[in-house]
Amino acid sequence: MREYRLRCTGCGGTFPDDGVRLDCPNDHAAALLRTEYDEKAFVVTAEPSIRRYAAWLPRGREIATAAQTAVYQSTGLAQRLGLEQLWIGFNGWWPERGAALRTATFKELEAYAVLARIGVDESRTLVVASAGNTAAAFADACTVNDVPLVIIVPANAFDRVAAIARIGPSVKIVAIEGAEYEDAIAFSRQLAADEEFILEGGVRNVARRDGLGIVMLAATDAIGAIPDYYFQAVGSAAGALGVREAALRLIGDGRFGGQVPQLMLAQNAPFTPLFDAWSVNAPVLIERSVADARRQIAQIGAQVLSNQTPPYAIAGGVREALGESSGTVFSIENNEMVDAMMLFAESEGIDIDPEAGIATAALIRAVADGSVERDRRILLNVTGGGRAGRVRETHDARPSLVLHRDEVAAIGNDAVRSVLFSSHL
Ligand SMILES: [Zn+2]
Repeated sequence: MREYRLRCTGCGGTFPDDGVRLDCPNDHAAALLRTEYDEKAFVVTAEPSIRRYAAWLPRGREIATAAQTAVYQSTGLAQRLGLEQLWIGFNGWWPERGAALRTATFKELEAYAVLARIGVDESRTLVVASAGNTAAAFADACTVNDVPLVIIVPANAFDRVAAIARIGPSVKIVAIEGAEYEDAIAFSRQLAADEEFILEGGVRNVARRDGLGIVMLAATDAIGAIPDYYFQAVGSAAGALGVREAALRLIGDGRFGGQVPQLMLAQNAPFTPLFDAWSVNAPVLIERSVADARRQIAQIGAQVLSNQTPPYAIAGGVREALGESSGTVFSIENNEMVDAMMLFAESEGIDIDPEAGIATAALIRAVADGSVERDRRILLNVTGGGRAGRVRETHDARPSLVLHRDEVAAIGNDAVRSVLFSSHL
């Protein structure tokens, strides 16, 4: 069934995929793996969902999904900014435009791709750590496909997840009191050290990046050519890396152009680890204290952009991608974000999430300072939006398990096992 293999961006080695592998087995510095598909041409199916792009998604099982991204040419915002070819990749809930991501963010693209990659004979339980959008996307996708899943969230993030995701019996949400995102990540690693569990793995999971790369495939499908510029707000930067990898595949096809889009990435000041490193040409991320990171993260309006360890210096990572595409990183203030969200709503007629406001603000800034040419093809990735029009899930959801941060190390794994076991009785 697997019509692809994995290739290591560090040593160049290739391996068959087991559906969950995150790292190269050879002994060298950390490097991202990539998929290499048998199909070298960009072929699409007639499916009215992201399965249209199945030839370039890792497949270990069939999954059900109605998820769909929408790419359309802007008139309103384009006119306001004086741009001739502004294309919007809308990844949220906007059925009138054809965008059908029920949990309202592009995280749903990666969730379905990750599930489809896992083999049908996989008996271990998938573990995902998240502070919000990723948890909602995986909960919904695993509910639709009845795939066992444990989600670890900080307790204060639970309501946001439950309000927008369907949560079926195969999905167990563990809420950690007194915890932040980093604590949830740490517990997911602790859990996945046990043999009954497998770690989803974030940006290291090839399916995540290929799933997010759908935005580039859908854009090229709509435009007929690879865009010249690509704007996106980044936390882990998995989306930007996935889009770049998709563009490389499209270049290989030969019909859509020979250049990867210039990556115009954006972060929310004052927490801007990628901007800080890239703008001074640093070889690795600049270290900051836990206290500084916490203080800065508390000040950003786009809370999902709070990843403290994006894959910057690693082979196949952000530094390489920016260098190759003559890309750049913008540092966007909260007030610019709010203005951009309002301008988008006014000119395009729909609400967008704060992180999409960060990307839109970067576009506004780039137009103002002349760093984009106004007649070129621009793709703006709206990574979340349409939340206001989403019908709320009305079920009375509670976490399957609530633990305090202080008890996770001692009893966390046993507690999760008991919840999974009791549900099978
Ligand atoms: Zn390797």
